[in-house]
This record gives sequence, structure tokens and C-alpha cells, in this order.
Amino acid sequence: MQVFKFGGASVKDAENVKNVAEVLRQFPLSKLCVVVSAMGKTTNNLERLTKAYFYKSEDAEAILEEIKTYHFNICHELFPSPAHHIFTELENSFVEIHWIIEDDPTQGFDFEYDQIVSMGELLSTKIVSAYLNEVGIKNKWVDVRSLIQTDNTYREGKVDFPLTETLITKDVPPLLKSVDIMVTQGFIGGTSENFTTTLGREGSDYTASILAYCLNAESVTIWKDVPGVLNADPKWFARTKKIDELSYHDAIELTYYGATVIHPKTIKPLQNKNIPLYVKSFLEPKSEGTIIRDGEKRLNIPSYIFKVDQVLISIQPKDFSFIAEDNLSDIFELFSKHGIKINLMQLSAISFSVCCDSDPDKIKCLVEELQQQFKVLYNSGLELMTVRYYTQETIDSLTSNKVILVEQRSRFTVQMVMKSEAQAG
Ligand code: ASP
Ligand code: MG
Repeated sequence: MQVFKFGGASVKDAENVKNVAEVLRQFPLSKLCVVVSAMGKTTNNLERLTKAYFYKSEDAEAILEEIKTYHFNICHELFPSPAHHIFTELENSFVEIHWIIEDDPTQGFDFEYDQIVSMGELLSTKIVSAYLNEVGIKNKWVDVRSLIQTDNTYREGKVDFPLTETLITKDVPPLLKSVDIMVTQGFIGGTSENFTTTLGREGSDYTASILAYCLNAESVTIWKDVPGVLNADPKWFARTKKIDELSYHDAIELTYYGATVIHPKTIKPLQNKNIPLYVKSFLEPKSEGTIIRDGEKRLNIPSYIFKVDQVLISIQPKDFSFIAEDNLSDIFELFSKHGIKINLMQLSAISFSVCCDSDPDKIKCLVEELQQQFKVLYNSGLELMTVRYYTQETIDSLTSNKVILVEQRSRFTVQMVMKSEAQAG
């Protein structure tokens, strides 16, 4: 049994959906679980739709119409017969979204978000599954919400692993006896009250990993539009190199620091069961890609993770007293309460500095609360550079025209919060 995951880019138009069928043909596997994300930029567009609906900031109907047209256009290319059942299924799904946005929201934003945004994966999997069946790749569509159970932390559902494992091991093996391939949604889960949750943006990789863990899969393959895991994001770096092999440890460190190639939660379940993870290009399915597996081997080249739009918050007691454990616990509690993830932190006698992604609304609320107890300074528009397996040369070349505000080095990793000299003035 293997698990394949196809991300948004791999199903962004009809041609790419056809390519998914090609990939499956090139790897005729006996038993396969196919996890699919929402098509192209659908999740972003559904996010826009949710905001428009919830805050009445834009015309929600118009956005929904845009999303609908996009999916129907893809289907018209994939299914020549207008009588194909997929068209009725799509209509029904869009009617469901319509029903949601017709009435005023009754619950919090995060709840409404999950009920709407999850439709992206439901739509994409219906289309992909129907298309594969159409071209002779027999498969069954499965609603993953009946398998992956989470608590009701909307937008960041916490998976109930024991229950999920029970459900998956009960339902999936018999299903895969009757058909070789199942097609299901990434990114979404269900609660005990039958509401839909999402697992956090880009969470489809994590879904693939959960399924693999519960089914003791032989391997997971993530199909991407890059040749594998690269040592830097080509968006920021001109010369990138593909990494052929990566240990679970390096993979989890790199994703933790912000490498976006795989969702950070993906590695743990796979490591726990020693299941290898392949990252390959759906454009060149036969090329090697990257394998992530158990191993001691350290990378022999530096890897770079670059994050822009960072904020550095510096927190100091108002009376020049030390930052002590009780202050720290108050501070952490506030970060947790406002859902702000810490990218880097540093403690000195009278100041505690935290670097995090800029999210102006959340940060404003956090800073206001911190200010009741502390003196708070903050600096925005910064960059966070992380280099794993750094050398002094790499650091020098990266920081030549930068002002470094905070720097942290461990044996293998250096992190620097910096701003460009021009900006520093
Ligand atoms: N469609 C979701 C997102 O774009 C999940 C995923 O792609 O992994 O965040
Ligand atoms: Mg995606």
C-alpha cells in the first residue's frame, strides 16, 4: 500500500488533471491511496469568499461565481459529455456553499471558514476521481471526514490519532480489497459533531502522512512542480540544488524553520513508523526526486530558509527588574492566546525578544495586552534568515548589506533577524 499526494499545482487545470492520470499509469501499484488538494488557487479564493461573507467586505456571490466558473471550465475540458454525473455533483456542491452564504454567520469566523474553505478539496477530489474512472483508472472517492477525526479547533484541527487509526483500519483495508485506488481529500477532517475542520494551510501533506501511518504504508510520495527538496526556495535564491537524500531529523528541522516544501507536521508520523517519504516532480515522474528517511547522514551543503515580513517584539519589565520565569509564563500565555507562532526568541536580563510573522491584527491585540504589564518595542518589515549547516562564508555573503538585529547560532543552525542597510537608513 502506498500513498500519493497531489497538491494544488498538480491539478490546477484540465491538462494537469490529465497528467495525474499519466503519473498513475506510470506507477501501476497494487493498492494506492491518492490524496488531493484543492485545485490551483482555490483555497485562497475560498478564503477570500469567507472573508467577504463574514465581514461583508466584498461581493461574496461574485467570488463564488468565479470559483464555480473555474471548476466548471476544467470539467468541460475533461468530460466532453454534458450529461456526465460530475456536472450534477458540482452543481450540488455549489448549492451547499450558496446555502451557507445566504444566511448571516451564526458562529465564529474560524468555524465558518472551515465549512466553506473545505469545499475546495471536496470539489477537486470529486473531479479527479470521476476523471480517473472515466479514463479507466478505477477508483473510489472517499470522504476523509469520516476517517480523520479532530477536535473542534477550527482552522487548526488537532487530530485524534487513536480514533482516527481505529476508523481508518476498520474502513480502508476492506475498501482497498474491492478496488485498487481510493481518492480522498487532503487538508480536512471531521469532528464528533459532524462539522468540518481544516488542519492548517498546506495541510494535505499531513493528511497523506496520517493515512500512511494508520495503514502502515510502504511509502508516501508527494508530487510537486519542483524536482524534489531544494536547498533553498528558488523564489529567493538564484542557484538552488536538489537534495537527493534527507534524514527525518534534517527534514523536520528545515520545515520547522519555515521551508515550505513540505508541511512541518508531515514528518513525525512517518518517522514514528519508519515510512520513507519521496518528493518528486509530477512533470518528470520518472526522475529521482528526494527521499526522506531514517539516517544519520548530514547534508553536505547549506540549506537556506528566508522569511520576509517579520516583526521583532521586544518586551521589558517597566521597572527595570529582571525577566523571570513568572513573567515568561505570562508572556507565553499571551502568545498562545493570540495564536501567534514564535519563529525565534532571545532572552537577556531585562528584555525578551520575539520574532514572528507579521499578522497586523493579531499583533496589535497582543501588543496591547503586553503593554498592560511591560514596556513593548517593536520593529517590523524585517527578514529572518535561517541557515542549516552554515559556514562563516555563507553567513558573510548573506549579511553583507544587512543590519543584524538578533543572531543565534547552534552547532548546525544559524538564525538572523535582519533588515537591509537602506531600510535602516
Ligand atoms: N488546499 C490547502 C491549501 O492550499 C491544503 C493544501 O494545499 O495542502 O492550504
Ligand atoms: Mg496548496
